[in-house]
Amino acid sequence: ILIGAQGSGKGTQAELLAQELRLFHLASGDLFRQEMAEETELGVKAKAFMDRGELVPDEITISMVLNRIKRLPATQGVLLDGFPRTIPQAKALDSGLQTIKQQIDLSVYIDVPRTELLDRLSGRYICQAHQHVYNIHSKPSHVPGICDIDGSELMQRSDDTGEAIQKRLNIFFAETIQLLDYYDAQHKLAQINGNQSSYQVQNTLLEAIE
Ligand code: ADP
Repeated sequence: ILIGAQGSGKGTQAELLAQELRLFHLASGDLFRQEMAEETELGVKAKAFMDRGELVPDEITISMVLNRIKRLPATQGVLLDGFPRTIPQAKALDSGLQTIKQQIDLSVYIDVPRTELLDRLSGRYICQAHQHVYNIHSKPSHVPGICDIDGSELMQRSDDTGEAIQKRLNIFFAETIQLLDYYDAQHKLAQINGNQSSYQVQNTLLEAIE
C-alpha cells in the first residue's frame, strides 16, 4: 500500500514501482474515473462526492476495490494506491483479504509538507486517455497540452482547484493519516521523505521495501 497526501507523488511513484516489481497497480481514483467516464450507476453516484473533493462513501468504495482485487490471479502481487483511506476501509480490506487467504505485506507513507503539496497540486495536469501525470512547474510535457506517452489531450482534474484541494488535504490529514498508527501497530509501516526529487523518492522507496 502506498499512503500519501494529494500531490505527494504517490501516483507517479506507484506507476514506477509497479513496473519495477511487476505488481498490478490498483488506483481507487482511477477506478472511479473509469466508472464516471462509462457513466455507470457507481460512477454517477461517485461523481458528486469526487467533484466536491469528498471521500466516496465506504460502502461503495470497499466493494469496488475488493471486487477488482478478487478478479486478479491469486499469484499476482498488487500495489494499492489511494485505498484504504479510512480505518473502516483498512479493516474491511484486512478481512476481505483474509477470505481469499491473502494479506498486506507493507504500507509506505510518502511524507511531504502541506505547503509543498499545495504548490504541486495547482500545477498538475493529467492526460485524458490514461491519466499520465504532468506538472507545469516541475514536469511539463514536451508539447504543451499533449501527453508525451499517448498523444491525448491534457486537462486539469475538476477536483484540483481551489476549495476542493483544501478539502481533500483536510480529509487526508484528519482521517487518512490515522492509517499510520493502524499499520504501525501491525508492524507493517515504513515512512519515507517525499520532499526530494522523484528519482530520489523512487530509490528511497525501493530501499524501504527491500
Ligand atoms: P487524490 O488522492 O489526489 O484526491 P485520487 O485519484 O486518488 O486523487 O482520488 C480522487 C477522488 O476519488 C477522491 O477525492 C475521492 O472522492 C475518491 N476516492 C478515491 N479513493 C477513495 C477511497 N479510498 N475512499 C473514498 N473515496 C475515494
